[in-house]
Amino acid sequence: MTGASIAGPALAYWLARYGFDVTLVERAPSLRTGGYAIDIRGTAIDVIDRIGILPAVRAEHVVTRQATFLNAQGRQVARVNPEDFAPRVGDRHVELARGTLTSQLFALIRSQVKHRFGDVITSLSDTPNGVDVGFKSGARERFDLVVSGEGLHSTTRALVFGPEASFSRYLGYCFAICELPNKFGLRSEVVIYNKPGKAALLRSTSDGPTLFALFAHRRPPPSPEEFEDPQRQRNSIASAFADDGWQVAEMVAAMQDAEDFYFDATTQIHMPAWSAGRVAVLGDAAFGPSFFTGQGTSMALVGAYMMAGALATHAEPTVAFASYEAATRPYVAANQRLVKNGSNVIAPGSSVALWARNSMIRLAPLLNRLGVLGLLDPTRGAFEALALPDFDRILCR
Ligand SMILES: Cc1cc2nc3c(=O)[nH]c(=O)nc-3n(C[C@H](O)[C@H](O)[C@H](O)COP(=O)(O)OP(=O)(O)OC[C@H]3O[C@@H](n4cnc5c(N)ncnc54)[C@H](O)[C@@H]3O)c2cc1C
Repeated sequence: MTGASIAGPALAYWLARYGFDVTLVERAPSLRTGGYAIDIRGTAIDVIDRIGILPAVRAEHVVTRQATFLNAQGRQVARVNPEDFAPRVGDRHVELARGTLTSQLFALIRSQVKHRFGDVITSLSDTPNGVDVGFKSGARERFDLVVSGEGLHSTTRALVFGPEASFSRYLGYCFAICELPNKFGLRSEVVIYNKPGKAALLRSTSDGPTLFALFAHRRPPPSPEEFEDPQRQRNSIASAFADDGWQVAEMVAAMQDAEDFYFDATTQIHMPAWSAGRVAVLGDAAFGPSFFTGQGTSMALVGAYMMAGALATHAEPTVAFASYEAATRPYVAANQRLVKNGSNVIAPGSSVALWARNSMIRLAPLLNRLGVLGLLDPTRGAFEALALPDFDRILCR
């Protein structure tokens, strides 16, 4: 298993529980902790519950007191608080820092699986009896199976399935995220500034001294050179937001100095098959839905549970992978389809879409009180679009 973020540790947990001998390989020199907040929703809550860490995960829930939406002049368009939507998501949603969930999952498997940090797969040869794997470190090993949970830009996927461009669909936006000093006076809240096709967002997840900034804007896809050049990425964000009001100029200035600047294109991964022989992909590497859906973590957790269960209940890996894929694809497809809804909330692409978003947000508390918000919610169903099999019972545990 490669990648020690969400998909990797979750799969490793379930495979170890079913008696597999697991090696987890991560490119980074150590576990990547901290980071932006991610969501666990619907069916994925059941996965966390079955792992046994739901109370610990809930204890890390990030409270959002309020979300404020601003127009191009920096004036408030609407303000909502999570209670406005509480009956919709209720106890089927937890939001916590990605690195916290990674640490919690890793703590469960630390002594159960072999782990190797600072290494990557550089060659793979699939044989009838196993996969011969070469590592950057020079190590060579044979494994029964290889699963990549390496995220959107997986290099192991490229070795087996071909270049990323064959599977990656550009969604029309680029984004940057960075941690900034909280000089904006925010406390456990979100503020989103919008112009058509543009969003500058500040997210304070605590009373702490820092917060996260996100910039997203519509533009042509980046060139390969831009992907290699962080200063060019910072400059492209700075020039896209050069004429904006509110506190965007201060955000851009702080972004230029931020140490943990991360830039990417918004993309979805669509693969015709999630496995080839004894090699498979999981999580964002297989079906990255983009952060606009807020469902990448949930899909990685559900995918890991389903893949491990299939491997534990089928002797032949290729049959297990096919069974897992057949059972999980409808859930993945339903959640990937949420992307338009997400971009329409975070960065509506036109003035009409922005007007519609603002009108909906102003009406949401009333619609919720009337009990009809859930009926209008396009995300309804997708979060819960898979009933988890009880693999423990099937395996008589
Ligand atoms: C800015 C941003 C905001 C987001 N917001 C949300 C949100 O609100 N809600 C939500 O649910 N999701 C969100 N996501 C998405 C979420 O982070 C991912 O969908 C989720 O983490 C998927 O996990 P993963 O394990 O498949 O991949 P990733 O989290 O991408 O992890 C991949 C891991 O593989 C490692 N790796 C990479 N290449 C190799 C290699 N060759 N060999 C070994 N290891 C390798 C990486 O270092 C990393 O640890 C957001 C993502 C971003 C970038």
